[in-house]
Amino acid sequence: MGKLITGIHHVTAIAGDAQKNLEFYAGILGTRMVKKTVNFDAPEVYHFYYGDQLGSPGSIMTFFPYNGLVRGRQGKGMLNTTTFSVPLESLDYWLARLRKFGIAYKEPEERFAGEVVVYFEDADGLGLELVFNDKDKRPGYSNGIIPAEKAIKGFYNVEIWEEGYERTAGLLTEQLDHVLIAEKGNRFRFAAQDTPGNYVDIICSPDSLCGLGGSGTVHHIAFSTPGQAEQLELRSKIVQRTLNPTPVLDRNYFTSIYFREPGGVLFEVATAGPGFTVDESADHLGEALKLPPQFEKNRTHLEQTLTPVSLNWENYK
Ligand code: ZN
Repeated sequence: MGKLITGIHHVTAIAGDAQKNLEFYAGILGTRMVKKTVNFDAPEVYHFYYGDQLGSPGSIMTFFPYNGLVRGRQGKGMLNTTTFSVPLESLDYWLARLRKFGIAYKEPEERFAGEVVVYFEDADGLGLELVFNDKDKRPGYSNGIIPAEKAIKGFYNVEIWEEGYERTAGLLTEQLDHVLIAEKGNRFRFAAQDTPGNYVDIICSPDSLCGLGGSGTVHHIAFSTPGQAEQLELRSKIVQRTLNPTPVLDRNYFTSIYFREPGGVLFEVATAGPGFTVDESADHLGEALKLPPQFEKNRTHLEQTLTPVSLNWENYK
């Protein structure tokens, strides 16, 4: 059997207002809403998925929006920053776009060679970065407003803060098929494959406060596994590491297992397929509220409970 983990699958965060979330990720950042569904564990809450054209693993940012939820706090034991990959030459375009929409950002800085990083936050205070680079060969997704040569290609890396990094590093390298590929100061970069969209940076930050869940914080990160046979094999390795994974759960677009890594971050391992075209066509992803079979009988109630969201694209040109 080949690699059980091929890289990052998705990142899931908790948001406040659902409409503002759509405006930020689809409107301002220009990622595609590839699925509008509900939280399978709490169906009166939306689950929004954004990504590239088809929602490929390594591009999928997802949210549970809870209107009015109190904000969380970034800190150790949490994935604090999710970064998106954009072409190196799009720096001026994106800084102008962030200013246009009143989004404060930190001055660009070089991290590793060939990576210019700009930090900003979404409407709920979720930590984000654009990483300007010319390493990323993925086509990305153009919504027709942001030109294809400027558009987000998917993730670049994620940044997890930890009390120490060794136990998490051990899990990544011994069970999750990652290797250490770079380090700088207190940043240790791991990857299952050395390509943008798959970098996992562990920041050793013993002096920071512990993260607290709430809006504007990440709920979990999912790693990608090729299929269900690999997922079961991986699950048995997690059991051997005594991390107590969940059974395999059907998420309709993939199947998943979950377990908490030693530093406190919730990890998921999700299958690469079947993907988001399983219940609607590629041309119409994200347009209709899609429900898994077990919730179809509640559709009328859910449609009345969930506040409708929509975008006026004119506002994002
Ligand atoms: Zn997930």
